[in-house]
Amino acid sequence: MEKLLNELSSESAAAYNVACDVESDCVIPENLKRKSSPGLVNIPENDLQRHFTNLSRQNYALSTVFYPLGSCTMKYNPLVNERIAKFDGFNGLHPLQPEETLQGALEIMYNLQKDLCEISGMDSFTLQPAAGAHGEFTGLLIIAKYFKSVKQKRTKIIVPDSAHGTNPASAAFAGFEIIPLKSEADGSINPEKLKEILTSEVAAIMLTVPNTLGVFEKNIAQISKLAHENGSLLYYDGANLNAVMGYARPGDLGFDVMHINLHKTFSTPHGGGGPGSGPVGVKAFLEPFLPVPQIEIKNSKYILNYKKPKSIGKMKAFFGNFPIILRAYAYIKALGADGLKNASGQAVLNANYMLSKLKDKISVPAGGRCMHEFVLSPKSVFQNGVHTLDVAKRLLDYGYYAPTIYFPLIVEEAIMVEPTETESKETLDKFIEVLSKIILEESVCDSQKVKDAPVNTSVARLNEVEAARKPILKAVGN
Ligand SMILES: *Cc1c(COP(=O)(O)O)cnc(C)c1O
Repeated sequence: MEKLLNELSSESAAAYNVACDVESDCVIPENLKRKSSPGLVNIPENDLQRHFTNLSRQNYALSTVFYPLGSCTMKYNPLVNERIAKFDGFNGLHPLQPEETLQGALEIMYNLQKDLCEISGMDSFTLQPAAGAHGEFTGLLIIAKYFKSVKQKRTKIIVPDSAHGTNPASAAFAGFEIIPLKSEADGSINPEKLKEILTSEVAAIMLTVPNTLGVFEKNIAQISKLAHENGSLLYYDGANLNAVMGYARPGDLGFDVMHINLHKTFSTPHGGGGPGSGPVGVKAFLEPFLPVPQIEIKNSKYILNYKKPKSIGKMKAFFGNFPIILRAYAYIKALGADGLKNASGQAVLNANYMLSKLKDKISVPAGGRCMHEFVLSPKSVFQNGVHTLDVAKRLLDYGYYAPTIYFPLIVEEAIMVEPTETESKETLDKFIEVLSKIILEESVCDSQKVKDAPVNTSVARLNEVEAARKPILKAVGN
């Protein structure tokens, strides 16, 4: 394991060379001088560089390994986007500058909103939310405010069990009561079952499409009709837009509100909690409720309109996560309409290719076809007390980031794989081979090896809860 900085430190070395051209003795009053050394570490410059480079090499990153983390869309993030986000003209901006001096930045945000409208079939967008879940919360506040404005008391949100876990959490946070809906064996929603719980108190139905089993909701037209006949709205969790871009638009499918995860579908580096951006799109009748300010054009100038009396208010400081907005805009412009469609097509093809190679060997809960990701349940293969967690840890030994595990909750021992469009057939084949070997051979014939994994990493099995709740950030005894 890599030593800590203070363990590397030695009295005889220094990573700095300070040239002092004042006579400190005469400038600094005696009472302000330190009584003891500040305890800084002394490390030669090249050792320091090695220390940090070696630490970074212990990380499993998208730039070093295949990263099939289901539901997270870990696609290649083009480096040109990083360059654009670092342009001085953008980096040097301050959000409190006068509007006239922010015209370029406002134009980009305005244009991105227009592009998102076109991609999604919605009428207006806000770029403020800082993540997918924050987008859900924003969308639900809009729904709540809308029903308040039309004086209807609707306090419930229907959330199928195949939705992303953030959906019920966001709805509860926004003050709604959740009505769960059990999905069918193939992951779809049964409209007859929906009818039974669709009362006059239901404000909205929240659907994740494709759902967490990687399945497109085949009854969507009927669900949309039922919801609207009941006066309820339809919410689209569009974090998985990478599956349908250029093929289907939530707005055309009947959805009234949605969020998009720019950090997933539109390729910006994310993981470990951020950074993110979860723009929210709405149909025209909900536009007055969007957060302020909205970017508008007046006398050929971009302006920030704060005068929207029905607005839910502000959801984030200033305009949203601007560097992410820039990267997403660069990505959309670089790919164009055909490129985006191609990305989704390829993402779905890659997932189905992998699924077709695995489904005869390892059980698949939701049928034989998927969208951009799929879920395996190796439960029937496991013996000798091996579990999905062990398989995930063993994958690390083979140099892979593990897929999402134990999600969705409706599948026992779930392994959720999302290859994305930017991986080659060779990479997919190699991963299929390794995953099959671990599940079908090692876990059966050499189960201790799988249970003891990982052995090739600098630390083995961490107590992840403890590490998050009580992190030890300095050396013991210091
Ligand atoms: C990732 C994801 C979310 C949550 O997005 P965050 O940016 O992590 O808050 C919501 N729904 C689905 C389907 C997702 O995949």
